[in-house]
Amino acid sequence: MNSLDRYAVFGSPIKHSKSPRIHQLFAEQTEQVLQYTAELVDAEQFEVAVSHFFSNGGRGLNCTVPLKELAWQYAPHKTERAQLAKAVNTLIMQVDGSLLGDNTDGIGLVTDLMLNHHICLKHKKILILGAGGATRGIILPLQEQMPLSVTVANRTVAKAVSIANEFKHKGLVTGCGYSDLAGQRFDLILNATSASLTGELPPLADTLLAEQGSCYDLAYANEPTAFVRWGQSQHAIHSLDGLGMLVEQAAEAFYLWRGVRPDTKAVIQTLATERQ
Ligand code: NDP
Repeated sequence: MNSLDRYAVFGSPIKHSKSPRIHQLFAEQTEQVLQYTAELVDAEQFEVAVSHFFSNGGRGLNCTVPLKELAWQYAPHKTERAQLAKAVNTLIMQVDGSLLGDNTDGIGLVTDLMLNHHICLKHKKILILGAGGATRGIILPLQEQMPLSVTVANRTVAKAVSIANEFKHKGLVTGCGYSDLAGQRFDLILNATSASLTGELPPLADTLLAEQGSCYDLAYANEPTAFVRWGQSQHAIHSLDGLGMLVEQAAEAFYLWRGVRPDTKAVIQTLATERQ
């Protein structure tokens, strides 16, 4: 059996995943000896694959599309942010041998916005586009920064309303459709739809972004996404993609597993150079 501490990301598709590269960079930088691999695992194989991984010495696991909801169901213990998100992206083998499920996506986003780009969230009007798993993961960490309001707009309006209802006890949050946004302006617009993956853009009016506002696409690509370009066309102060969030959510998982915080700025810089 491999004597290295083993970590992995499970998902389908998985070939494109940057997580092994990110964790390799973290491990080199912090002088941690570990192995991190990407494994093609679909929903049907999930339980058997996770059980096999941990019974063969696995120390921690990341789960990505389409497994985050299944990981949430699987984890016997969950952090509050994962519990509310109904999605788990990080499984941690605890010292007593039980599994803890966490969701580090939201803290990854907030860290990238606030620490890396100095975007203030307090007393700001935030708009989230989309009402899928990513939105579920980011709402609570955003609410914890005391924004003025969080609005969730989605193509399927009922999903936005339902998510808002689940999180409203944690701060002002409303759900609506795109047409309901008419006349409103936001300091920060976050694209948490998967539209960027197919080069599409949600239906956004040219009046949505406040002066000095910022745009952030959770998706990332080698070229600026359609939403990043939209933000630029709206004269956003920042119009960013989700590479920084990806590295920051990974850093949070690395910290949970190893107790060491990597220098994320250096890793974001390396990945940004590698994608050019
Ligand atoms: P889901 O499949 O759970 O949700 C997708 C959402 O996008 C739904 O609300 C859907 O609307 C909406 N949508 C899809 N296509 C369009 C379109 N053409 N126009 C308008 N809305 C559309 O995806 P996730 O929430 O898991 O992921 C969303 C994005 O976040 C992805 O791009 C993913 O890569 C990114 N992400 C990035 C992370 C990072 O670390 N940077 C971490 C996690 C996610 P409807 O409900 O009406 O179908």
